[in-house]
Amino acid sequence: MDNYDLIIVGGGPVAGILAALLADAPWKIAVVAPGQPTAGSRAIALNHSSRQTLQSLNLWQALAGHTGKIRKIEVSRRGEPGKTHLSAADINTAELGWVIPEKQLMTAISARLSTLSNLTSIPATPLSIDQQENSITLELDTATSISARLAIGADGAASKLRQLAGLKFNEHDFHSVAICASMTVTQPHQNQAWERFTNSGPIALLPLADSHLYSLVWCVDARDTDDLLGCSNSDFLNRLQQQFGYAAGRFTAAIDRTAYPLVQRTCQRPTADRLLLIGSAARHLHPVGGQGLNLALRDVVVLTEILKQAAREVGDPGNPLLLQQYCDQRKVDWRTTERFSGQLPGLFAEHRQPLTLSRNLALTALELIPPLRRAFVRRAAGQFGFRPLNR
Ligand SMILES: Cc1cc2nc3c(=O)[nH]c(=O)nc-3n(C[C@H](O)[C@H](O)[C@H](O)COP(=O)(O)OP(=O)(O)OC[C@H]3O[C@@H](n4cnc5c(N)ncnc54)[C@H](O)[C@@H]3O)c2cc1C
Repeated sequence: MDNYDLIIVGGGPVAGILAALLADAPWKIAVVAPGQPTAGSRAIALNHSSRQTLQSLNLWQALAGHTGKIRKIEVSRRGEPGKTHLSAADINTAELGWVIPEKQLMTAISARLSTLSNLTSIPATPLSIDQQENSITLELDTATSISARLAIGADGAASKLRQLAGLKFNEHDFHSVAICASMTVTQPHQNQAWERFTNSGPIALLPLADSHLYSLVWCVDARDTDDLLGCSNSDFLNRLQQQFGYAAGRFTAAIDRTAYPLVQRTCQRPTADRLLLIGSAARHLHPVGGQGLNLALRDVVVLTEILKQAAREVGDPGNPLLLQQYCDQRKVDWRTTERFSGQLPGLFAEHRQPLTLSRNLALTALELIPPLRRAFVRRAAGQFGFRPLNR
């Protein structure tokens, strides 16, 4: 059996970025994931603090040619007059956020990981775990076992490690899916993002690096999934155009249509003996607020600091006090971000009269009272470390 200091389970952005940040820790680290990293057709809107994290790893530079910039956002609701415009100029910054296709992000992370000498990549998936007082052992599907002082589960929303550890989570099924695609349009996007709420769910268009290309996130009833994935390109374009309107121009193609089920799953206590969950394994949020990865990267930064401090003091990375310290430091951000992500889609889906009026008043107030808008945009851009509203 091979022994490590740390095992990270997962092959997504959170596992990869955590492993890269820990590259200079004096530890032997194993990254366990089944095969090559997977990436879908979605693009991720990142805020200022996420950008800093990627910059600290020199990944930002590698992604420059693939990164769209968000300088303005228009928020509106179909069939209602209220609209608001959020602009980077409101807070004297050049950009409110950035948009990176997940495929390119994963390519850059994988290239980085392949250069790190303290990492061992193990193409496998855990079958069982054995939690002892001073270590944890993972039995893998490759007929081998590995052990470490701490196992970190970054294995996504359906986390196997979470299941094996019996960690409880709250689940809210939105009974909807996000249809993602890259959309070509007739009009240049001029770095503007759009968030349009409709009766069936929000539609977000995020500007990509190409001036005529948006990343689409269209939330619809789960029963419409097969229809929207299977219909012809022109049918899809017509249906989207009907819901979204022509403010961003005419849609000319939808590339790589993919559906992601929308379920919010949150683990109130993401730790067990010698084990910690992070990323979507701990908190899988509705994408409407563009929060998931931004929140997870804030977690990763705090966790890295705590673990590196332990390494400097020749401490034990799986010490329960350290895991508790991490949870204590992060819990306010978790609670606030979860509440925001969970409530936003429902709030704008509602079309009862009083709510419609107050929603319009809120949008109009934001538009008419510049200090209010500035406060909102500042938060939206994540300058206070949380609550980006990039979509
Ligand atoms: C439509 C959509 C749009 C989004 N937009 C945004 C956005 O704009 N901004 C934002 O911040 N966030 C956004 N998110 C959220 C973001 O995608 C997630 O927060 C992020 O992907 C979480 O990364 P992760 O590494 O924790 O999990 P994942 O990306 O789910 O990766 C999990 C990894 O674990 C691997 N794995 C699975 N099972 C096992 C196993 N048994 N053993 C080992 N490995 C395993 C998988 O292969 C995968 O590589 C969006 C999400 C969706 C669905």
